[in-house]
Amino acid sequence: MAELKLERLSKDFGDRTVVRDLSLTIPEGAFTALLGPSGCGKTTTLRILAGLERLSHGRLTLGDRLLADDSTHLPPEARHMGMVFQSYALWPHMTVAENVGYPLKLQKVPTAPRRKQVLAALEVVELAAYADRSPQELSGGQRQRVALARCLVSEPQVVLLDEPLANLDRHLRATMEQTFREFHRRTGATFVYVTHDQAEAMALASHIAVMHQGELMQWGAPQDLYQHPQNAWVARFIGKGSVLTLAARDDVRQLDGTQLHQGLSGTGSDRQQVLVRPEHVDVGDEGLAASVESCIYQGERYLLVLRLADGQRLTAFHAWPLREQQTVRVRLHQGWRLEAA
Ligand code: ADP
Ligand code: MG
Repeated sequence: MAELKLERLSKDFGDRTVVRDLSLTIPEGAFTALLGPSGCGKTTTLRILAGLERLSHGRLTLGDRLLADDSTHLPPEARHMGMVFQSYALWPHMTVAENVGYPLKLQKVPTAPRRKQVLAALEVVELAAYADRSPQELSGGQRQRVALARCLVSEPQVVLLDEPLANLDRHLRATMEQTFREFHRRTGATFVYVTHDQAEAMALASHIAVMHQGELMQWGAPQDLYQHPQNAWVARFIGKGSVLTLAARDDVRQLDGTQLHQGLSGTGSDRQQVLVRPEHVDVGDEGLAASVESCIYQGERYLLVLRLADGQRLTAFHAWPLREQQTVRVRLHQGWRLEAA
């Protein structure tokens, strides 16, 4: 299997380490996301994979091919990888077809077969009718699809995408997500998709690497990250939730509803912080008293911000609107204990 293996990759710029000891084994054909806040080292990691940046330490292999280590550096064109950028990076003076065919031209593919491959790639992104237009006549979404076709025309084993939807509006992003999913399915290539948007990562990827300050925080399926965050940082970064301070006695990571209720109503001196997801809060006639601070319409449901008797805030979902200042009762049925920071 041609898995993409990153072993303790590090990158220093001067005396600053921006990627530190990053190890990941990306299965062949996986749709992987590198997810993390701006500045955490995602682009640098992608550029190391592409060969646009040399690694400072570590080892990078694709199947049994060594791409880079402390003394080896395979150039980008020898790596069988394609890259798509946020800025599309299309040549304005070339037609759509010339842009898409450019990598093939570099490989000296003759004109007739080249045109055929280009049209096939444009067919996939539903832009064959635009082959002889200038990129300037196209919308942002269409330009990004041209960039995708150009990346795929040379049949890369690995497709690297750096925030490809960041320049597009929200409505178009949803459509483009579908395009990427479809694309991934049709090509069978390994996708490494960089984003700072966790909803996008969750929607697209089968595997997510969460990065923070150049380090890997967690690697797993979206469901794992959400349900079993490995540390407090991931717990807060992924998904919605409120952090409550409880009086605590036990040392378990996942607290059940009873423990949460005891902690909130008890008087223990030993305090701890717990993350509670809104879907783990039942609003009804039983439990702790809370007052509705705000009720925000979200289309399919309402998001409540509740204030508990001791002043702490809690978010919850509700199927119908509640009045502000109204008193309700809540039961918490699961919480995630955060380690002291
Ligand atoms: P991300 O893509 O997650 O926003 P980057 O990989 O672009 O993060 O950057 C990570 C850190 O490395 C940032 O602090 C950035 O300023 C720094 N950095 C990136 N490229 C260079 C460079 N060529 N020289 C010096 N510092 C850099
Ligand atoms: Mg970046």
